Amino acid sequence: MTMAHRESEPKHEAVRDRIRVLDGRTPVADRIRERVRKAGERFHANDNICEFVEEGELDELQHEVEAKMCEVLRALVIDTENDHNTQDTARRVAKMYVREVFGGRYVAQPPVTDFPNVSRLNELMIVGPVTVRSACSHHLCPIVGRIWVGVMPDENSALIGLSKYARLVEWVMTRPQIQEEAVAQLAELLQEKMQPDGLAIVMEADHYCMQWRGVKDMDSKMTNSIMRGSFLKDPDLRREFLSLLTNKKG
Ligand SMILES: [Zn+2]
Repeated sequence: MTMAHRESEPKHEAVRDRIRVLDGRTPVADRIRERVRKAGERFHANDNICEFVEEGELDELQHEVEAKMCEVLRALVIDTENDHNTQDTARRVAKMYVREVFGGRYVAQPPVTDFPNVSRLNELMIVGPVTVRSACSHHLCPIVGRIWVGVMPDENSALIGLSKYARLVEWVMTRPQIQEEAVAQLAELLQEKMQPDGLAIVMEADHYCMQWRGVKDMDSKMTNSIMRGSFLKDPDLRREFLSLLTNKKG
């Protein structure tokens, strides 16, 4: 037994080396990770790492995920060779992760033109509901919900077009997320873009890890809010926002 075990050792190493030097190169995920580490940046599930991904590497990454997903299906003892339903599953899932549902990790922030607040608007604006599609970092299960943004501009604020909110929301949410952190990331981004006097965000969502598995509670929704600037300081403004929201939610 001991002998056999020892003999098998070099084989394992050979396989590992073969994977590592596929096409004579380090796997793309390792290369990207190395660059992120060198820059001292974070690569948590909800971080955007696009500045470390070089031209053409996203295709390579998608292929790498596809190969690993094949292994997951094998480990689940699913006969992907003979089961026609799962023959293409690894490819589909890899594409879905890299290009769609986690795409906000790998692509640059969508361009958002802002314009100065020339008419010096200083009235409460509410944008929403904006549909949210995300996934939880814990189970990679879908999170589907809605978001409302309240903006209190001042004369120094930059304003952004209505459709841009949806694009920024999508960019932040197409990453594995924790709802509280997602709302905080979005607040950070909108604050930086608009420099409003006050900013409020409310997110309400269904978490499929509560509905599909676990407690299987179909009715539980999670609601989070974040208030900044004048929304924090001024209870009347906060009340106005929340009551308008209640009306809008209908
Ligand atoms: Zn979860």
